Amino acid sequence: MTDPNEMRVGGFTPLTSIDYPGVLSAVIFCQGCPWRCRYCHNSELIPRHGDNHIPWERVLKFLHQRRGLLDAVVFSGGEPTLQKQLPSAIQTVKSMGFKIGLHTGGAYPERLMRLLASVDWVGLDIKASKENYAKVTGVEGSGEKAWQSAKLLIDSGVSHALRTTIHPQLISTTELQKITQRLNDLGPARHQLQTCVTDHCLDPALRN
Ligand code: SF4
Repeated sequence: MTDPNEMRVGGFTPLTSIDYPGVLSAVIFCQGCPWRCRYCHNSELIPRHGDNHIPWERVLKFLHQRRGLLDAVVFSGGEPTLQKQLPSAIQTVKSMGFKIGLHTGGAYPERLMRLLASVDWVGLDIKASKENYAKVTGVEGSGEKAWQSAKLLIDSGVSHALRTTIHPQLISTTELQKITQRLNDLGPARHQLQTCVTDHCLDPALRN
């Protein structure tokens, strides 16, 4: 296993009730993402090495103090599965007695598959139909990865939400119907729609 002390953490939320539905949790924002979504509002987390670095030891120290007070820790991003240290970081946090939540875009299906036995809940973004994915992420081939991850997640039986962010310039009603139909074809998916926060979109053309 890789050394969790090498985790690159770009942000931390000590308490939230919305990032893991119905559960009090802390959120670790992992640095780095392979995609460039036009509506990304956490663009400072996209570079593999960001300006804001929180040492892993400091995160663990905080979590030690919150044992028995928080139920879960959510690994978010950026794209948490980008970091090879994620599995060992998850094991460390799990051994402290916390449930594990994971936010992912599904960019690395093989890594997600290996993590599914270790996590309690996954929020996976489904950003578009497979053929239109690159129009959102800016990366060719991202649709194949994300939809492969969705299939793995649904088949795993792990508690989850498949989340589609709606920005009217990116997702039409027809496109949304296509996404919903294809998710239904994959199996019993829990599909949620979320409104796009437009204030800080990476692409200025999508801002209010
Ligand atoms: S997947 Fe897209 S929205 Fe999420 S951090 Fe990466 S670029 Fe931003």
